[in-house]
Amino acid sequence: MFNGIEIIENANLKEFCTFHIGGRGSVLFPKDIFELKRVIRECERLNLRYFILGNGSNLLFPDYDLDMILISLKYFNQIKMMSKGVVYAEAGVPLFTLNIFLKNHCLGGFEWSFGIPASVGGMVFMNAGAFSHSAMENVVKVKILKNGKVQIVKREDIDFSYRKSNIDGIILGVFLKFFEKDIDVIAKQQQFFLEERKKSQPFDKFSAGSIFKRENDFIPAKAIDLCGLKGLQIGGAEISKKHAGFIINNGDAKQIDVLALIKYIEIKLQRKMVLEIIVIS
Ligand SMILES: Cc1cc2nc3c(=O)[nH]c(=O)nc-3n(C[C@H](O)[C@H](O)[C@H](O)COP(=O)(O)OP(=O)(O)OC[C@H]3O[C@@H](n4cnc5c(N)ncnc54)[C@H](O)[C@@H]3O)c2cc1C
Repeated sequence: MFNGIEIIENANLKEFCTFHIGGRGSVLFPKDIFELKRVIRECERLNLRYFILGNGSNLLFPDYDLDMILISLKYFNQIKMMSKGVVYAEAGVPLFTLNIFLKNHCLGGFEWSFGIPASVGGMVFMNAGAFSHSAMENVVKVKILKNGKVQIVKREDIDFSYRKSNIDGIILGVFLKFFEKDIDVIAKQQQFFLEERKKSQPFDKFSAGSIFKRENDFIPAKAIDLCGLKGLQIGGAEISKKHAGFIINNGDAKQIDVLALIKYIEIKLQRKMVLEIIVIS
């Protein structure tokens, strides 16, 4: 059914997410738009569930075999200079690669994102952000695949909100705007933001970033810390001692361990929390 398209059947899903949690599943790697369209057509024809995989840095896979086709856009990895200050980055480009490209082209305004382990597609879809910035600031327009057709969606037609967008389609690439800046200043600022992350987050552990969303004045990490829950473990999952908003996988954590910790936090805080991570089932 997916003849000629790269596929890993029975893939270990731990290798496809930064949480390093998950059972087995099928991952497809279309090389171009034609293969991607064919994959989607086949999934729809055969009534197979599918899911677009970015860098898997916001995902919690199930412990059982996943009854869903994962579509990786890792081959959508080109970056092009467009007009002055505007760059087109395909969805599968890692943010790290984009940041290096921008530094080498003396383009600033994105240093805050250095260290977020996302792909361009995942970053824009989630409107990822840090240090009072977010992806929406840089977006000019987005190229998507929807109903079998490639379309351009302008920034003003997209609703971005906190860690959320209403982009309806598969992001193929994004036109992003930046401004001229000295290469050494960019390098220094990238390093600064990376160091800030390393200081405050369990950067060297398996995680999916912040588990919960902030809600107005409610800051989950602060509330969890105040309840004395840092370091609490269920199975292989632990509330990070470094940042109470992160749950880390100590090596053999399961989805059920993470979900149990989330439930425990909700009971202790007497509050239903809003998840930032995406729980796949
Ligand atoms: C150590 C660490 C630090 C982090 N720090 C931050 C931070 O500072 N700020 C922040 O906002 N987040 C942070 N995160 C979370 C995560 O990096 C972001 O949510 C990021 O935007 C997810 O991008 P991704 O490519 O990994 O997407 P994935 O996790 O693979 O997918 C996330 C969602 O995006 C969708 N998606 C991905 N690609 C596409 C596409 N091409 N078209 C349509 N939909 C797509 C997926 O279907 C899914 O719904 C952190 C995570 C970790 C592990």
